[in-house]
Amino acid sequence: MAIERRGILFVVSAPSGAGKTTLCKELVAAIPGVHSSISYTTRKPRPGEVHGRDSYFVDEGAFQDMVQRNDFAESARVYDHFYGTPRQALTDMMEKGLDVLLEIDTQGAMQIKKKFSDGVYIYILPPSIDVLRTRLIQRGDAPEDIQRRMQKARQEILNYREYDYIVRNEDLKQASQELQAILQAERTRTKRVDIGWLERNFITDPTSI
Ligand code: 5GP
Repeated sequence: MAIERRGILFVVSAPSGAGKTTLCKELVAAIPGVHSSISYTTRKPRPGEVHGRDSYFVDEGAFQDMVQRNDFAESARVYDHFYGTPRQALTDMMEKGLDVLLEIDTQGAMQIKKKFSDGVYIYILPPSIDVLRTRLIQRGDAPEDIQRRMQKARQEILNYREYDYIVRNEDLKQASQELQAILQAERTRTKRVDIGWLERNFITDPTSI
Protein backbone atom coordinates (compact mmCIF):
# COMPACT_ATOMS: atom_id res chain seq x y z
CA MET A 1 0.00 0.00 0.00
CA ALA A 2 1.20 3.50 -0.83
CA ILE A 3 2.24 5.84 1.95
CA GLU A 4 -0.52 8.31 2.84
CA ARG A 5 0.29 11.89 1.98
CA ARG A 6 -0.99 14.97 0.23
CA GLY A 7 -0.50 15.00 -3.56
CA ILE A 8 2.66 16.58 -4.92
CA LEU A 9 2.57 19.39 -7.42
CA PHE A 10 4.98 18.94 -10.33
CA VAL A 11 5.43 21.96 -12.56
CA VAL A 12 7.09 21.44 -15.92
CA SER A 13 8.12 24.29 -18.21
CA ALA A 14 10.07 24.25 -21.45
CA PRO A 15 10.56 26.35 -24.54
CA SER A 16 8.18 25.52 -27.37
CA GLY A 17 9.71 22.64 -29.37
CA ALA A 18 11.73 21.11 -26.51
CA GLY A 19 9.52 18.01 -26.41
CA LYS A 20 7.67 18.77 -23.17
CA THR A 21 4.27 17.48 -24.29
CA THR A 22 5.65 14.11 -25.39
CA LEU A 23 7.70 13.72 -22.21
CA CYS A 24 4.74 14.59 -19.98
CA LYS A 25 2.44 12.18 -21.84
CA GLU A 26 4.97 9.39 -21.34
CA LEU A 27 5.28 10.29 -17.68
CA VAL A 28 1.54 10.12 -17.00
CA ALA A 29 1.29 6.83 -18.91
CA ALA A 30 4.27 5.29 -17.09
CA ILE A 31 3.62 6.33 -13.48
CA PRO A 32 0.30 5.61 -11.76
CA GLY A 33 -1.20 8.34 -9.59
CA VAL A 34 0.03 11.29 -11.66
CA HIS A 35 -2.67 13.41 -13.24
CA SER A 36 -2.34 16.26 -15.69
CA SER A 37 -4.12 19.46 -14.84
CA ILE A 38 -6.39 20.58 -17.68
CA SER A 39 -5.86 24.25 -18.51
CA TYR A 40 -8.36 26.81 -19.70
CA THR A 41 -7.29 28.63 -22.84
CA THR A 42 -8.60 31.16 -25.31
CA ARG A 43 -6.72 29.53 -28.18
CA LYS A 44 -8.71 27.48 -30.68
CA PRO A 45 -8.45 23.68 -30.51
CA ARG A 46 -5.95 22.06 -32.87
CA PRO A 47 -7.16 19.18 -35.04
CA GLY A 48 -7.88 16.19 -32.80
CA GLU A 49 -7.98 18.19 -29.57
CA VAL A 50 -11.05 17.65 -27.40
CA HIS A 51 -12.66 20.22 -25.07
CA GLY A 52 -12.34 19.00 -21.48
CA ARG A 53 -9.70 16.40 -22.31
CA ASP A 54 -6.81 18.42 -23.79
CA SER A 55 -7.91 21.85 -22.56
CA TYR A 56 -11.07 23.79 -21.84
CA PHE A 57 -11.41 26.04 -24.88
CA VAL A 58 -13.24 29.21 -23.87
CA ASP A 59 -13.68 32.70 -25.30
CA GLU A 60 -11.90 35.69 -23.84
CA GLY A 61 -15.02 36.95 -22.00
CA ALA A 62 -15.46 33.66 -20.16
CA PHE A 63 -11.74 33.55 -19.38
CA GLN A 64 -11.71 37.08 -17.92
CA ASP A 65 -14.80 36.27 -15.83
CA MET A 66 -12.86 33.39 -14.32
CA VAL A 67 -9.90 35.70 -13.61
CA GLN A 68 -12.26 38.11 -11.83
CA ARG A 69 -13.74 35.28 -9.75
CA ASN A 70 -10.22 34.21 -8.76
CA ASP A 71 -10.87 30.78 -10.29
CA PHE A 72 -7.26 30.36 -11.46
CA ALA A 73 -4.28 29.27 -9.40
CA GLU A 74 -2.23 31.07 -12.07
CA SER A 75 -2.93 32.60 -15.43
CA ALA A 76 -0.81 34.17 -18.14
CA ARG A 77 -0.82 35.45 -21.65
CA VAL A 78 1.38 33.24 -23.81
CA TYR A 79 1.93 34.66 -27.29
CA ASP A 80 -1.57 35.68 -28.44
CA HIS A 81 -3.67 33.67 -26.04
CA PHE A 82 -4.58 33.39 -22.40
CA TYR A 83 -4.00 30.27 -20.35
CA GLY A 84 -4.99 29.42 -16.79
CA THR A 85 -4.86 26.57 -14.30
CA PRO A 86 -8.19 25.97 -12.53
CA ARG A 87 -7.64 26.35 -8.79
CA GLN A 88 -10.37 24.06 -7.45
CA ALA A 89 -9.53 21.04 -9.63
CA LEU A 90 -5.88 21.38 -8.64
CA THR A 91 -6.45 21.50 -4.88
CA ASP A 92 -9.11 18.75 -5.04
CA MET A 93 -6.66 16.35 -6.68
CA MET A 94 -3.92 17.16 -4.20
CA GLU A 95 -6.27 16.76 -1.22
CA LYS A 96 -7.12 13.29 -2.55
CA GLY A 97 -3.42 12.43 -2.49
CA LEU A 98 -3.01 12.51 -6.27
CA ASP A 99 0.12 13.99 -7.76
CA VAL A 100 -0.58 16.74 -10.27
CA LEU A 101 1.41 17.70 -13.32
CA LEU A 102 1.21 21.27 -14.59
CA GLU A 103 2.64 21.95 -18.04
CA ILE A 104 2.78 25.72 -17.97
CA ASP A 105 5.03 28.54 -19.09
CA THR A 106 7.55 30.26 -16.82
CA GLN A 107 5.24 33.21 -15.98
CA GLY A 108 2.64 30.75 -14.65
CA ALA A 109 5.29 28.62 -12.94
CA MET A 110 6.59 31.66 -11.03
CA GLN A 111 3.05 32.53 -9.85
CA ILE A 112 2.51 28.95 -8.68
CA LYS A 113 5.86 28.94 -6.90
CA LYS A 114 4.78 31.86 -4.73
CA LYS A 115 1.71 29.90 -3.58
CA PHE A 116 3.03 26.33 -3.59
CA SER A 117 6.57 26.49 -2.31
CA ASP A 118 6.42 22.75 -1.71
CA GLY A 119 5.99 22.00 -5.41
CA VAL A 120 8.65 20.48 -7.62
CA TYR A 121 9.80 22.70 -10.47
CA ILE A 122 11.32 21.08 -13.55
CA TYR A 123 12.69 22.79 -16.64
CA ILE A 124 13.14 20.90 -19.89
CA LEU A 125 15.93 22.09 -22.14
CA PRO A 126 16.29 21.27 -25.81
CA PRO A 127 19.68 19.76 -26.78
CA SER A 128 20.80 23.20 -27.99
CA ILE A 129 19.44 26.51 -29.26
CA ASP A 130 20.26 25.45 -32.85
CA VAL A 131 18.36 22.18 -32.49
CA LEU A 132 15.40 24.09 -31.08
CA ARG A 133 15.36 26.36 -34.14
CA THR A 134 15.60 23.36 -36.47
CA ARG A 135 12.71 21.63 -34.69
CA LEU A 136 10.48 24.69 -35.03
CA ILE A 137 11.35 24.93 -38.74
CA GLN A 138 10.66 21.21 -39.25
CA ARG A 139 7.36 21.53 -37.40
CA GLY A 140 6.28 24.03 -40.05
CA ASP A 141 5.91 27.07 -37.78
CA ALA A 142 5.69 30.39 -39.65
CA PRO A 143 9.01 32.36 -39.77
CA GLU A 144 7.65 35.19 -37.56
CA ASP A 145 6.43 32.58 -35.02
CA ILE A 146 9.85 30.94 -35.03
CA GLN A 147 11.43 34.32 -34.34
CA ARG A 148 9.04 34.97 -31.43
CA ARG A 149 9.41 31.50 -29.96
CA MET A 150 13.21 31.67 -30.13
CA GLN A 151 13.18 35.04 -28.38
CA LYS A 152 10.84 33.74 -25.67
CA ALA A 153 12.96 30.59 -25.29
CA ARG A 154 16.07 32.67 -24.56
CA GLN A 155 14.18 34.83 -22.07
CA GLU A 156 12.66 31.80 -20.38
CA ILE A 157 15.89 29.87 -20.09
CA LEU A 158 17.27 32.84 -18.14
CA ASN A 159 14.91 31.79 -15.33
CA TYR A 160 16.48 28.34 -15.01
CA ARG A 161 17.64 28.99 -11.43
CA GLU A 162 14.03 29.13 -10.27
CA TYR A 163 13.64 25.44 -11.11
CA ASP A 164 14.69 22.49 -8.94
CA TYR A 165 15.63 20.22 -11.82
CA ILE A 166 16.86 20.68 -15.38
CA VAL A 167 16.27 17.85 -17.84
CA ARG A 168 18.02 18.13 -21.19
CA ASN A 169 16.00 16.43 -23.89
CA GLU A 170 18.75 15.25 -26.17
CA ASP A 171 17.52 11.68 -26.24
CA LEU A 172 13.80 11.14 -25.59
CA LYS A 173 14.24 7.82 -23.79
CA GLN A 174 16.94 9.17 -21.50
CA ALA A 175 15.02 12.39 -20.75
CA SER A 176 11.87 10.39 -20.06
CA GLN A 177 13.77 8.18 -17.60
CA GLU A 178 15.21 11.22 -15.86
CA LEU A 179 11.78 12.78 -15.46
CA GLN A 180 10.35 9.57 -14.05
CA ALA A 181 13.26 9.26 -11.64
CA ILE A 182 12.62 12.78 -10.35
CA LEU A 183 8.99 11.91 -9.66
CA GLN A 184 9.80 8.68 -7.90
CA ALA A 185 12.50 10.29 -5.78
CA GLU A 186 10.29 13.21 -4.77
CA ARG A 187 7.55 10.81 -3.71
CA THR A 188 9.85 9.14 -1.23
CA ARG A 189 11.12 12.31 0.46
CA THR A 190 10.70 12.24 4.22
CA LYS A 191 9.00 15.64 4.26
CA ARG A 192 6.18 14.26 2.09
CA VAL A 193 5.21 11.50 4.52
CA ASP A 194 2.11 12.02 6.67
CA ILE A 195 3.65 11.90 10.15
CA GLY A 196 0.34 10.84 11.74
CA TRP A 197 0.09 7.89 9.37
CA LEU A 198 3.67 6.84 10.05
CA GLU A 199 3.28 7.07 13.82
CA ARG A 200 -0.06 5.24 13.84
CA ASN A 201 1.31 2.41 11.73
CA PHE A 202 4.90 2.06 12.88
CA ILE A 203 5.52 3.83 16.16
CA THR A 204 2.44 3.56 18.37
CA ASP A 205 2.14 -0.09 19.28
CA PRO A 206 -1.58 -0.91 19.70
CA THR A 207 -0.75 -4.24 21.41
CA SER A 208 1.02 -2.41 24.24
CA ILE A 209 -2.13 -0.49 25.32
P1 5GP B 1 -0.20 25.13 -26.13
O1 5GP B 1 -1.04 26.20 -26.78
O2 5GP B 1 0.75 24.49 -27.09
O3 5GP B 1 -1.04 24.16 -25.38
O4 5GP B 1 0.71 25.86 -25.06
C1 5GP B 1 1.48 26.98 -25.39
C2 5GP B 1 2.27 27.42 -24.17
O5 5GP B 1 1.38 27.74 -23.10
C3 5GP B 1 3.19 26.32 -23.61
O6 5GP B 1 4.40 26.95 -23.18
C4 5GP B 1 2.43 25.79 -22.41
O7 5GP B 1 3.30 25.30 -21.42
C5 5GP B 1 1.73 27.05 -21.93
N1 5GP B 1 0.54 26.71 -21.16
C6 5GP B 1 -0.37 25.74 -21.38
N2 5GP B 1 -1.30 25.74 -20.43
C7 5GP B 1 -0.97 26.74 -19.58
C8 5GP B 1 -1.55 27.26 -18.36
O8 5GP B 1 -2.57 26.79 -17.86
N3 5GP B 1 -0.89 28.30 -17.77
C9 5GP B 1 0.24 28.85 -18.28
N4 5GP B 1 0.79 29.86 -17.62
N5 5GP B 1 0.80 28.40 -19.40
C10 5GP B 1 0.21 27.37 -20.05
